Amino acid sequence: MHRIVPLVASLQEHLDRLTGKPEDYRPAACPSCGLGRPWCHGHYERKADRDDGRFNPVPVPRYVCRRKGGCGKSCSRVPSCLPPRRWYLWSVQRAVLVCLLSGMSLRKCADTVGCILGPSQRTIRRWWRWLEARHALFSFRLLDREPEWGRAVQWRDFWRRALAQEELRELMAYLDNQELIVP
Ligand SMILES: [Zn+2]
Repeated sequence: MHRIVPLVASLQEHLDRLTGKPEDYRPAACPSCGLGRPWCHGHYERKADRDDGRFNPVPVPRYVCRRKGGCGKSCSRVPSCLPPRRWYLWSVQRAVLVCLLSGMSLRKCADTVGCILGPSQRTIRRWWRWLEARHALFSFRLLDREPEWGRAVQWRDFWRRALAQEELRELMAYLDNQELIVP
């Protein structure tokens, strides 16, 4: 859906880039009607930092389509470290998924990684089921990017390979750019 700006690894990087290179965030075209670049339209704030909270509130830039004949709709752009719709950063989700993909049980994962990084067993289970349910759709698109991952026989193997080579946040930024909905 073109909501994610790729290659922004951390909230610190996000703040630096938003000040230093704000044009990186501005969409090339309106995501709703496809007309020229939307105008800056302030920002909204998210409590995105779940560590010590020092980055909160995190600004998320907004844009509005004000071209002649445009749709007038607004949109926002998040850095790739920050999921558009989920509470926990991709880095936390990645840590959890890597453990589960290596064969760790949900309970063990919740007791160890979950205990340190925050997500409950129920949340961890939801992420796990989400990945499995989206596998066919996501892997189909990701194979364009990395055909080598197609050698995986089953879905867990695919994601083990993918996450060994690429950050989850960048895989999701890529899928978002391919018009798929990522959480
Ligand atoms: Zn528009």
